[in-house]
Amino acid sequence: MKTAEWLCTACGATNRKLVADQQTQAEDRCVTCHTRHVIQQVPRPVRWHATVKR
Ligand SMILES: [Zn+2]
Repeated sequence: MKTAEWLCTACGATNRKLVADQQTQAEDRCVTCHTRHVIQQVPRPVRWHATVKR
């Protein structure tokens, strides 16, 4: 497992989600404002890319 760190696009909070090692995309909900996001791993920066899930 690895930790996916991502930044909420709605409130700017930093979130973390535990995902499988080979996983490059996941869904998570912001701990602060509860907005659902699709998060995708990018080579750089380390932080995953997040977009609001509609
Ligand atoms: Zn948020």
